Amino acid sequence: MASVIVVGAGVGGLAVAARLAAAGHRVTVFEQAPVVGGKLGRHERRTAGGTFRFDTGPSLFTLPQVAAELFAATGGPSPLDLVPLDPIVRHRFPDGSVLDSTQGDGFAERIDEAFGAEAAADWRRLWRRAGRVWAASWQHVLTSPVDSPLRMAGLAWRLRDLAAIAPGRTLQGLGRRHLRDPRLRMLLARYATYTGADPRRAPAALLAIPYAELEFGGWYLRGGLGTLATALLDRCVAAGVRVHTGTAVGGITVTGTRASGVMLEDGTEVAADVVVANADALHVYRDLLPTPGRARRLEARSLGGFVLLLGVHGRTPGLAHHTVLFPRDYDAEFDAIFGAPARPIDDPAVFVTSPDDPTVRPEGHEAWFVLVNAAPNGTGPAEVDWTAVRDGYADRVLGTLAARGLDVRDRLLFRDVLTPADLAAATRSPGGAIYGTASHGLTGLLRPPNRGPVRNLFLVGGSVHPGGGLPLVMLSAKIVADLVGPAS
Ligand SMILES: Cc1cc2nc3c(=O)[nH]c(=O)nc-3n(C[C@H](O)[C@H](O)[C@H](O)COP(=O)(O)OP(=O)(O)OC[C@H]3O[C@@H](n4cnc5c(N)ncnc54)[C@H](O)[C@@H]3O)c2cc1C
Repeated sequence: MASVIVVGAGVGGLAVAARLAAAGHRVTVFEQAPVVGGKLGRHERRTAGGTFRFDTGPSLFTLPQVAAELFAATGGPSPLDLVPLDPIVRHRFPDGSVLDSTQGDGFAERIDEAFGAEAAADWRRLWRRAGRVWAASWQHVLTSPVDSPLRMAGLAWRLRDLAAIAPGRTLQGLGRRHLRDPRLRMLLARYATYTGADPRRAPAALLAIPYAELEFGGWYLRGGLGTLATALLDRCVAAGVRVHTGTAVGGITVTGTRASGVMLEDGTEVAADVVVANADALHVYRDLLPTPGRARRLEARSLGGFVLLLGVHGRTPGLAHHTVLFPRDYDAEFDAIFGAPARPIDDPAVFVTSPDDPTVRPEGHEAWFVLVNAAPNGTGPAEVDWTAVRDGYADRVLGTLAARGLDVRDRLLFRDVLTPADLAAATRSPGGAIYGTASHGLTGLLRPPNRGPVRNLFLVGGSVHPGGGLPLVMLSAKIVADLVGPAS
């Protein structure tokens, strides 16, 4: 049995802690925030009319088989209450047309009805290719460890294979090549933002992302996606993991050539045989184990999110669980975020989540989570000082919704605003970037390895291999738990 310290209780930290405890290790988690969950955050607002409960991070749950395997491996069936979504996302385009995504071939049928046979045939052709990209990604990227230069080189070769299956150097290029309808191109391009990237620079191999969502389906978790954090914490506690919230780690200690524990920010030293860092890799290599060469490679941040949490009086006809309202000029969105200087998007795509779940909103009301892509927080040329612009920009986003037919300004009980500055403060993700480093270029898919630069140090979570989003983060935890191995 080894003693293991996990730095951070995000989904990655909790999942690896549960796995390692189930494998017989003695596991302690230190989380700097007062609560667990990290980016899988929750926000509650009490009003005279009742309580509103919001997810502040993820709103779409995909690849539930990954969570099911995690729970099965750590003590029993999944306690999650999965609600399949149809539509998975309602897409509203600037010309007024609407397209509802759904699982499987039904989506091509809906494309046929909404945009015609030619558009549907294009989609079906792309989809066959997507299936091959997905199969190769799953086998060679998502479930394989990247723990040595040799494996890294092997993965780089696999990425070239993926590029050959999905020709068109970028995701946007792939859409231009295979899809004639500009609305489908926009729909495809949006998936680059699932890794926090610009579709004009994101590799075409990201075609695996829409495949995962649309082939296997999209789910809501009754009570909110935050119930996943509670379920993982329960699993950890049942397996004997000690979880200390409100306890920040200030450094990873190294003795000789191996990690030997952590130094808490209050100066306490805690020894361990193994350290697993769930904090953002840039925070790890810049602050916890200063390694300037590695940190420098992680400085190009992925995008963040500008979030409105709205208490809305009454019910809104035509609103799905997820609705995305596209702008006229989608490219301008990425010019604003990734241009220099970065700036808030004038006319952003707006993503609205409104769960039809009585446990998260009072009767006769809606709890809206409104998400707009945003540059990371800061004062550098690639950043925006969100604290300075937050209220004015919140007005603008509400105005954008109104201009696209969803004016709720006279039905608002309250509006709470979360910017990338808030996410940075809550999770110590530098700049409040959601997905660590931006996945730009083919090598953008090569994220920092799970094995750290000293022995017995591992990294887990969305900023490292295989990437961000809940299922990939849980896969990352499996990879790390396998690298550590069972207690001997
Ligand atoms: C607005 C938004 C929308 C999203 N939408 C989706 C979606 O629809 N579907 C989906 O699958 N994913 C979505 N995601 C992404 C998903 O939330 C993340 O990929 C995932 O939660 C990341 O988990 P993690 O464990 O890697 O990192 P984190 O959640 O960042 O966890 C890291 C933890 O480490 C802690 N920590 C950091 N530094 C220290 C320190 N020095 N000492 C102690 N503790 C420390 C942090 O406080 C944090 O709790 C979204 C995220 C956001 C923010």
